[in-house]
Amino acid sequence: MADLIARRRALLGPNVPTFYDDPVHVVRGEGVWLWDAEGRRYLDCYNNVAHVGHCNPRVVRAICDQAATLNTHTRYLHEGILDYVERLTATFDDPLTTAILTCTGSEANDIALRMAEGVTGKRGIIATDATYHGNTALVSHLSRSNVPEVGFGLGQYLRHVEAPDSYRIPDPDGQRFAAQVEAAIADLERSGIGFAALILCPLFLNEGFPTQAEGWLRPAAEAVRRAGGLLICDEVQSGFGRSGSHFWAHQRQGVVPDVVTLGKPMGNGHPVAGLVTTPGIMARFRSAFRYFNTFGGNPVSCAAAMAVLDEVQERDLQANAARIGRLAAVRLSELQQKYPVIGDVRQSGMVFGAEFVLDRDTKAPASAYADRVVNRLRQRGVLLSRLGRHKNTLKIRPPMPFGEEHLDLLVTTLDAVLAETPVSE
Ligand code: PMP
Repeated sequence: MADLIARRRALLGPNVPTFYDDPVHVVRGEGVWLWDAEGRRYLDCYNNVAHVGHCNPRVVRAICDQAATLNTHTRYLHEGILDYVERLTATFDDPLTTAILTCTGSEANDIALRMAEGVTGKRGIIATDATYHGNTALVSHLSRSNVPEVGFGLGQYLRHVEAPDSYRIPDPDGQRFAAQVEAAIADLERSGIGFAALILCPLFLNEGFPTQAEGWLRPAAEAVRRAGGLLICDEVQSGFGRSGSHFWAHQRQGVVPDVVTLGKPMGNGHPVAGLVTTPGIMARFRSAFRYFNTFGGNPVSCAAAMAVLDEVQERDLQANAARIGRLAAVRLSELQQKYPVIGDVRQSGMVFGAEFVLDRDTKAPASAYADRVVNRLRQRGVLLSRLGRHKNTLKIRPPMPFGEEHLDLLVTTLDAVLAETPVSE
């Protein structure tokens, strides 16, 4: 283990992120389980990349069969990309009928921002102040942390609005958020930059997945439309049925975005991502920019992505997400009765978690406590993480075949860890 950490540092450089004080050396996966090099089994409660389960047999077979037949760059004719985009766009509402396939979610968001510029002729972008949308020079500037200190990027063209936080900032109908978006639009217009797009994850998953009524985003979306900008929904985490109630989380929010970006779960670990948009926006983009992606939408990627769609739809994993999510909320609320350190319990389908506080009245975040809990869970064989503005919220986002028996193991282990971890910060 120490050897791997040292080699990693020597070969990949310092500060390459790993999870846990004691990183896990994984060597094998199956379904919701991972195994380390010593043969120890872990319950994976975090990995949304292995959307339909680690080493899903149908996805593995699809990749192997296509790799054994043909894989090539994307300048030849091949039906794989067309069959997939037909199936993919059928899951969206009209007029979202065209797509670009890429290899990462970052690239997809990068294209989306350029589409906004191509369509509006303006460059002002609005994002939340606790978000992450990827790692290209352009997109990395949307985050407030780890922003590269280089002279290019969004700079003066970016405005942050406060990330929604249902626990601390009441905004039951989304009007407060919409007012902030309107103010940011006005500021961009006043400064001569102009407003191009609002980009956000419709479930605000990186921000701490606040509890929101269906349709919460509608007022902000209307403000964007009135100003002639684009609404970009980043569904890299929230898509492919994870919200439980809808296949795409923006559908739950009652909006039809101009661009939806996709990634992580799309190929179950095979690097395929992309975006879906309207024919009009696609035509404007294609005439404003020459865009070519060597690997994006290659035959193997499309075979992997098609197998993921088949699995989600045939096994009705969206319904499983809804059912397990509801049960998880009940089980976590029971723990909340028992442990005052749990200030809030939140759930959006197969994403759920608990926010830790030092005091329920002041809601002072228990960030170091959350870190201890995550590391102790890891020691007991349960893998998950923490996030949010204060990094004090457990983020539990397992592969979609996560079942009741897995939830039970997770909750029992969490109960044991909370019982043995004193709240002292
Ligand atoms: N958007 C969101 C919401 C993400 O969480 C991430 C990755 N964590 C990305 C985009 C970037 O995706 P990728 O790492 O595939 O570039």
